Amino acid sequence: MHCPFCRHSDSRVIDSRTADDGMSIRRRRQCPECGKRFTTTETASLTVIKRSGVVEPFSREKVMVGVRKACQGRPVTEADLALLAQRVEESLRLTGVAQFETNDIGVAILPHLRELDEVAYLRFASVYQSFDSLDDFEAAVRDLRVKRGGSGAPVSASNSAAADGE
Ligand SMILES: [Zn+2]
Repeated sequence: MHCPFCRHSDSRVIDSRTADDGMSIRRRRQCPECGKRFTTTETASLTVIKRSGVVEPFSREKVMVGVRKACQGRPVTEADLALLAQRVEESLRLTGVAQFETNDIGVAILPHLRELDEVAYLRFASVYQSFDSLDDFEAAVRDLRVKRGGSGAPVSASNSAAADGE
């Protein structure tokens, strides 16, 4: 790792600690040439293959963008979205696979979104599970009611939400 101050080609690790709920390691480094200190962050990379074939790093921010659209008008905060994106990343890492397709990300989002907001979940699911009829919505709503253990407020769904449409 080059020193960001003097560009010296080497640096010494003086401290390492796990950060960000175990998903990354921060290393405190010191340049033997100029003596300045800096920090590097190391994470195992997850990648996403887009439908176009382009491979890019997994991004929590993109998860939040996709889910935020489905959450329009719903009582969901930015903190909720950030936590959801973090949980999605954790669940992806738990699969033991490092490369995913865009659709896999959507599927990984669904169970977390269902816990967060049922209406947003239905909007999102309608895109990712390609709902193409009212029957699909009815089946999903029925499924939600079963998981919730019986009756509940009626859930309306809108097909207008779109996930990250790449
Ligand atoms: Zn230096």
